[in-house]
Amino acid sequence: MDTYFKALKQILEEKDEITFLSGAGLSTSAGLPDFRSDENGFWKSNSPVHFRDFLSSKKYRMKSWQNNIAIHKKLENIKPTKMHNLVNKVIQRGISNFHITQNIDGLHRDEAKEKNIIELHGSIFKAKCLNCGAKYDTLEYFGNLELDTDCLCSECREGFVKVSTISFGQALVSKTLQKAEKASINCQFFIVLGSSLKVSPANNFVRIAKNNGAKIIILNKDPTPMDDYADIVINDCLENIYEQIK
Ligand SMILES: [Zn+2]
Repeated sequence: MDTYFKALKQILEEKDEITFLSGAGLSTSAGLPDFRSDENGFWKSNSPVHFRDFLSSKKYRMKSWQNNIAIHKKLENIKPTKMHNLVNKVIQRGISNFHITQNIDGLHRDEAKEKNIIELHGSIFKAKCLNCGAKYDTLEYFGNLELDTDCLCSECREGFVKVSTISFGQALVSKTLQKAEKASINCQFFIVLGSSLKVSPANNFVRIAKNNGAKIIILNKDPTPMDDYADIVINDCLENIYEQIK
């Protein structure tokens, strides 16, 4: 067995203080189309709504909700991959293991370990009032939504309810960022799964982990701009890598 695979397998099976950072590559191997190389046009027909437009027009608010329901439908036939399950096994094992993800699809979900899963870009399963912060289950809210109410919050009756996914033009949640930063500072092993690491803050977390003494492992189909920071880099799709370490 290749030394890198052997080292990786040992870390995943025996060590704690592991922080994962996952990106689209984890979900595309489950069959969800990648936003950047969307061949069947799923994202084109469900084009994202800018946050500014969500705030200013009912038409866009409805479009935003319809997009999210389309993603739910798309996900009905998609199951978490073996790599998702492996990550969850590590998360379940130790309270000091964390999973930071850029994915909104919830394929990584584990209700018992919700506190250890940090969804940087939110989740299509959660919705929130932009005014009072009241929380809603996305599907439940949409099911009860009467179109003439314009997705107003039933608690405060003033704010709009929006799916918790971060829209273009919308700031990331600072509490979530702080949690991710803490998980990057406190880990011994920082493992990137299927992220091109081209955008902030994802690439910053690699830097933070490195500066605080963590070993950096990058598993991605293509080389990333952060490879120089890494102790181990494996360029392959995650399902092939999984086969080597299972
Ligand atoms: Zn409200």
